[in-house]
Amino acid sequence: MPTKEFFHFDHIMSSDISAMMSTENSLSSRNDTAENLGYNKESLAIPQQTHSTNVLFINSSGEFENCDGLITDNPNIVLSLQTADCIPIFLYDVAIGLRGLVHAGWRGVIGGIACNAIELMVNHQSIVENIQVLLGPSICKHCFEVGGEVAAKFDKNCVVMGKNKKYFANLHAQVRLQLLKYQITENNIHMSNICTFENKGCCSYRRDGENAGRMYSFLGVKNGFN
Ligand SMILES: [Zn+2]
Repeated sequence: MPTKEFFHFDHIMSSDISAMMSTENSLSSRNDTAENLGYNKESLAIPQQTHSTNVLFINSSGEFENCDGLITDNPNIVLSLQTADCIPIFLYDVAIGLRGLVHAGWRGVIGGIACNAIELMVNHQSIVENIQVLLGPSICKHCFEVGGEVAAKFDKNCVVMGKNKKYFANLHAQVRLQLLKYQITENNIHMSNICTFENKGCCSYRRDGENAGRMYSFLGVKNGFN
């Protein structure tokens, strides 16, 4: 990891579950990217992504309205979402195979979408100790400038004041804090150190605005269950 076009996170998963994220260099459409990676495009389950804190438990592929995260235990389903600076959060219960994929920008982070996902997993028989969480590449604490109103919503340890009274927020740290409060153990929280804003190979809305592409994340079983 990583290859030129994709980040691989399989090392935190187990068995045949695969977690990947495309970079800017990838084929452009989600379906093409999925197939290029070895996922069945008919198996994709995709949240609409409205910067909500809603997470759904699903048992079929397709698109899902009014949510930013999906949980499933169905091996036929490949969870997918798209980001450009927001965090893709991969969740995996190594004991029972339940898994989730969540889109978290600052609204989702502050609203606690990561914990909503954990709670939903626990409601479906997960034990917190068994849940591995990966916070994928996103805009980093040195690059994510926010106004005072947004800064005030972050924990004081997750935001710093820079020059000219500008604030910089740490999305990863805020989610980590929430996960620790939710009894996810330190060893089970994995954080990518890749910044989408600084890394030209990544898609960044802050850097490229409306012209920014999107990075696709996938979590599921490859080459099977057609
Ligand atoms: Zn950065």
